[in-house]
Amino acid sequence: LPQISRDTRFTLEHAGAYVGDLITPTLRLGVTGLSRAGKTVFITALVKCLCEGGANPPFARLSGIEGLRAYLEPQPDDDVPRFQYEDHLNALQSEPPHWPQSTRRISELRLTLEWPSRGGLFEFLGLSQRLHIDIVDYPGEWLIDLALLDQSYQEWSQHALYTVQRPVFSALAKPFLEFLSTVDPEGVADEQVAIRGAELYTQFLQSARNSGTPYAGLGPGRFLLPGDLEGSPQLTFFPTKTEGGAVESESLLALLERRFASYRKNIVKPFFEAHFSRIDRQIVLVDVLSALNGGAEGLRALEDGLEGVMRAIRPRSESWLAYILGRRIDRIAFAATKADHVHRNAHRQLEDILSKSVSRAAKRAEAAGSAFQCIALAALQATTDVHKDIQGEHLFGVRGIPEAGERIGGRTFDGSRGAVVFPGDLPEDALDAFDEDRARPEHFGFVKFRPPTLERREAGAQVNAWPHIGLDKAFAFLFEDHLP
Ligand code: GDP
Repeated sequence: LPQISRDTRFTLEHAGAYVGDLITPTLRLGVTGLSRAGKTVFITALVKCLCEGGANPPFARLSGIEGLRAYLEPQPDDDVPRFQYEDHLNALQSEPPHWPQSTRRISELRLTLEWPSRGGLFEFLGLSQRLHIDIVDYPGEWLIDLALLDQSYQEWSQHALYTVQRPVFSALAKPFLEFLSTVDPEGVADEQVAIRGAELYTQFLQSARNSGTPYAGLGPGRFLLPGDLEGSPQLTFFPTKTEGGAVESESLLALLERRFASYRKNIVKPFFEAHFSRIDRQIVLVDVLSALNGGAEGLRALEDGLEGVMRAIRPRSESWLAYILGRRIDRIAFAATKADHVHRNAHRQLEDILSKSVSRAAKRAEAAGSAFQCIALAALQATTDVHKDIQGEHLFGVRGIPEAGERIGGRTFDGSRGAVVFPGDLPEDALDAFDEDRARPEHFGFVKFRPPTLERREAGAQVNAWPHIGLDKAFAFLFEDHLP
């Protein structure tokens, strides 16, 4: 490059910094998954590892990029709450450590990666290369609402009542179904009936979700996680038995139809337009181990949920959504979270089971196109592996501190003492887990663990160890093509 005066160089540098800012590429990473799948812990761990990896980042590939640093910047969207990274990190680093408050609504955080330029005008001007990663955390329950955009109230009611009447839910659904048998949809609209019906239907959804049979297709999503809409009249509808045909405008049915339409128009559609449609990369966190606890039925439920995700990510081409969504999300990582509940020997099987669920769901949703990868993940590893040979039998388990109230073989833990847990062998052939006769949920005993005690970094001392499984793999799959 030619010799230039100091003034010219100064001007060029300023112009360069300005242009650099304008041309810094931004990738929006969507982080989703059903409630308690592990979104909050994942984002906190990822940011912590990237920003404070220091001289010895846990991401080996990144430590090879000389001069790379990562830092948080003010997020670009003023109307979206910020992801409370510092609070969540404090929870995990407190004494004793505890898990942070889970995701309840959408939030966002801007992470910037920066490294020195190699070659060209940028290096000459001493400018860095940068990449903004806007992390958008949102409940998977809201994503599954996408299905509603293509449905009428009648279609949705039919689908919802089919779920309510599943044999596994018979006890939980009783209050709602009894109420429903007293309701005349053709009768005159009564606001109190709509409110009562919505309350009972919401109670059913919540208890079904907490019942240990994670039926991911349950919705509408805002009934489970209302975010800022708690108590809003837009959430006062419920499914009814309808015959189709003409609807009297003063009837209860007409009122429920209107509410459903307004939920779709004012809640679901804006969410997709304002947030979802702008996502470039997506990670879907899945609690596969909880699904395995529910046996073949649990995995069917998981697959239904993933099908909903697939439909959202790859809408059918004739849908109006294809217009908005068709352009993006070229990489999706699916992560089986809490992989530290099992020995590392079982991680391949865990990935296989997730991979089967994802492929089957993708086929059902006729989704193809995006590259996807399945990863066994523990954003914060709370256990260490244990291997014992007892009378010629190889046993693989994990050691950690079970949460207060957890039970193993009749023993209840108080949250203060460590234990070795042998959670049972995952099936060698992933297909067995999907088979009614061969799935063996009774063989599994997964236990929740307290987060590990992390060494606090003293000024000037070496960097914290942040134990994790697969966080680097997930990061590499999602972003490597944008790094030097
Ligand atoms: P969210 O609802 O998707 O935001 O879920 P969270 O990130 O809050 O995680 C829910 C719960 O899952 C936590 O409170 C922990 O009990 C557990 N969890 C999440 N990530 C991990 C992990 O990496 N290891 C272990 N052992 N447990 C985890």
